[in-house]
Amino acid sequence: MRYPSPSPGLLARLAARLGRAGFSSDPADLAPWLTDWRRRLTGAAAALVSPADAEEAAFVVAAAAAEGVAIVPQGGNSSMVAGATPAGIGEPGEACALLVSMRRMRQIRSVSAADNAVVAEAGVVLADLHDAAAAAGRRFPLSLAAKGNATVGGLVSTNAGGTQVLRFGPMRSLVLGLEAVLPDGSMLRGLAPLRKDNRGYDLKQLLIGGEGTLGLVTAATLRLVPAIGERAVAWIGLRSAEQALTLLRLLEDRLGESVESFELVPAEGLALVLRHIPGTRAPLADSWEWNLLVEAVSPRGAEAIAGRLGPVLGEAIERGLIGDATIAASESQADSLWTLRESLSEAEARDGMAAKHDIAVPVADMPGFMARAAAAVAERFPGARPIAFGHLGDGNVHFNVRAPAGGDGSDGGRAWFAATATEVSRFVHGLVTEAGGSMSAEHGIGRLKRADFLQLVDPARRAAMLAIKHALDPAGIMNPGALLPLADRRARP
Ligand SMILES: Cc1cc2nc3c(=O)[nH]c(=O)nc-3n(C[C@H](O)[C@H](O)[C@H](O)COP(=O)(O)OP(=O)(O)OC[C@H]3O[C@@H](n4cnc5c(N)ncnc54)[C@H](O)[C@@H]3O)c2cc1C
Repeated sequence: MRYPSPSPGLLARLAARLGRAGFSSDPADLAPWLTDWRRRLTGAAAALVSPADAEEAAFVVAAAAAEGVAIVPQGGNSSMVAGATPAGIGEPGEACALLVSMRRMRQIRSVSAADNAVVAEAGVVLADLHDAAAAAGRRFPLSLAAKGNATVGGLVSTNAGGTQVLRFGPMRSLVLGLEAVLPDGSMLRGLAPLRKDNRGYDLKQLLIGGEGTLGLVTAATLRLVPAIGERAVAWIGLRSAEQALTLLRLLEDRLGESVESFELVPAEGLALVLRHIPGTRAPLADSWEWNLLVEAVSPRGAEAIAGRLGPVLGEAIERGLIGDATIAASESQADSLWTLRESLSEAEARDGMAAKHDIAVPVADMPGFMARAAAAVAERFPGARPIAFGHLGDGNVHFNVRAPAGGDGSDGGRAWFAATATEVSRFVHGLVTEAGGSMSAEHGIGRLKRADFLQLVDPARRAAMLAIKHALDPAGIMNPGALLPLADRRARP
């Protein structure tokens, strides 16, 4: 369904209210923000609108709502599923949407060590949030490789995960309160850092993971935890993913909640990093089918964690669970081990094209699922090369399927990708759905996974989601085309 272009009067009102710093319709200003991170989609927008505070954000939404003009919220534009790209909204080549960038709203409004809470505006970049928490002697316990770009609003709206979900859960469990503009321009003010609040429906939970389809997040109150006294980062080589899970439970038995990250890197993943990322080197003497990066932490003043982790890894070697392990002897060594894990996506991209999947199954089922799915993909798409890595401790891996090796090698698998990736993804998403899992563990649905999601989602769940969307955004102006069908703009469920 067609969305109207903003009228000249609307654009003039926005320009007058937001000023030069907050409004531009100059194609040169818009261009850097119209293509998604993975360079899969390029969209179009009539203007780039950047509110400086919540009142300006509410003004923008109310003004757009009055004309039924589409709004695409954008934070750091690091979405892996083109969630923040204004593509497919108007007729081809038509610039209907307003691209609403939250990057100017980057104040930390308050940090309270007493409440263990920080109030951060939507445009605060994750790395800056980490710094603000550290300055108050606390920690915000969620991190991911895009921390230099991803913003609070994007992290909330995608219910981001990252590398500490094992202990602290995803964003959903770290958000204490939200401030947001609803699609009619009204403000939802709920920033109080309440640990308990049973006044009926928890509206913030609808916005968390809502991918900008139910409102524009302007600020969030986020949970802080005590700062780390010390961390121990280990790199472990082993032959079996099943035994990796046995190791995880052993570590938890011996070290309790100290274990925060449990990341899986297969041999070919490590090889890709060593090949493509300058300055990296193999941490262990031998090559192992699987590698694990484990991080365990201790609070300030507690017994050094490395001294507790070492004996457990020794016990695991004696029991034959793992083959070899090393514990970083310094912070810079720890960072080097993390680089091996966090640069895997980049190394994979440099190596050629891959169909990417972000899947979850119950933790205990993941080793078996990875093996079955790899075999099924290899049989159905001869030559394609599956690779699984990531957050094994959460039952979430990035199960990517790389283009076949060889050919003339000159196009990096582009022709294969163009011809096959959609079918490969449908196949993998089907496998994980059949296994009772999720085709999107942490990246969301966005625009890239919408078709598969809508085909595979349980009908009752789809109907309930559409009912919520229509109740809160009857004109369908918030982020059309992300998560839900574009054609349902004015339809009733
Ligand atoms: C190298 C790399 C590694 C990554 N690793 C992880 C990982 O480990 N775990 C993980 O979960 N994700 C990961 N991601 C994905 C990405 O970083 C997250 O989805 C992040 O939350 C996006 O934040 P952003 O500010 O860039 O949001 P954007 O990309 O700008 O937007 C994402 C979605 O949120 C909406 N949105 C943005 N801001 C607002 C707002 N203020 N109000 C309402 N809606 C809004 C957008 O419309 C869009 O639907 C990774 C990405 C990269 C590039």
